[in-house]
Amino acid sequence: MTRRVEIVEVGPRDGLQNEATLVSTQDKVAFIRRAVDAGARRIEVASFVHPKLVPQMADAEDVVRELGIIDGLTRIGLTLNKRGAMRALDTGVEQLGAVCVASDAFGLRNQNATSDQTVETANQIIRLAQAEGRTAQVTISTAFGCPFEGEVPEARVLDMVRRLLVSEPEEIALADTIGVGVPSQVSRLVSKTVALAGKTPVRVHFHNTRNTAVANVWAAVEAGAVTVDASIGGIGGCPFAPAATGNVATEDVLYMLGRSGVDHGLDLDKTIETARWLETVLGKSVPSMLAKAGGFP
Ligand code: ZN
Repeated sequence: MTRRVEIVEVGPRDGLQNEATLVSTQDKVAFIRRAVDAGARRIEVASFVHPKLVPQMADAEDVVRELGIIDGLTRIGLTLNKRGAMRALDTGVEQLGAVCVASDAFGLRNQNATSDQTVETANQIIRLAQAEGRTAQVTISTAFGCPFEGEVPEARVLDMVRRLLVSEPEEIALADTIGVGVPSQVSRLVSKTVALAGKTPVRVHFHNTRNTAVANVWAAVEAGAVTVDASIGGIGGCPFAPAATGNVATEDVLYMLGRSGVDHGLDLDKTIETARWLETVLGKSVPSMLAKAGGFP
């Protein structure tokens, strides 16, 4: 078992992007700085998508500019296409995050592209970043299930991994975009992906839509995933289950890993404080369990 797991903080992007409340640029930057202060060294700071489609991310350039370069921090800009990749590269972010989709139906709705087309685009984005001296990683979304197609065949996901490895991404991630995955499934698919990816690290991304996210993180870590996406406060949501909670909460993951003897490099108390601060920014309580209970007494 891995004794060290890296956390990628996705709250400022995946979290805020799926919250109804529009958060000011200033508060976004404050959020990112708090995460850095808590020990985060890789953060999804914004997504470079069309502002009409995702008004929450309309100030992506401003966020990166006002945040500036922080020593030791890798700022990730999420991009779905070449245009977004160019925008992200222009801001100076250190890393691009590309996204491809394991299901045609989801891809056509979300990115207006088939699964194959999203793999092609992701490979282009990765090469674009590399040509500019930046790094890039890629996430396979709906890897554990699709709201339109249902079960996603493992063979399809693994075939995508194979085709993405060709462009040598920094890492490959499996994402449970709609929060349907369960630990047995995670163990299987992550093990196979880790075996296939070889030296390329495997990251995982879970949503707690059906209360399985923390268990899925544990299954993934045991299966060889070395990096876990998490969102302080567990903010975010699921566009396909409007009443559902969001990403797995960073502090919930930290508690589980820390007490299990897995090093993650983050400060649990500062993460909890930030989750509580987010409640004041969003004007509502956050789904995180640790924000309510606190750490080990
Ligand atoms: Zn997500």
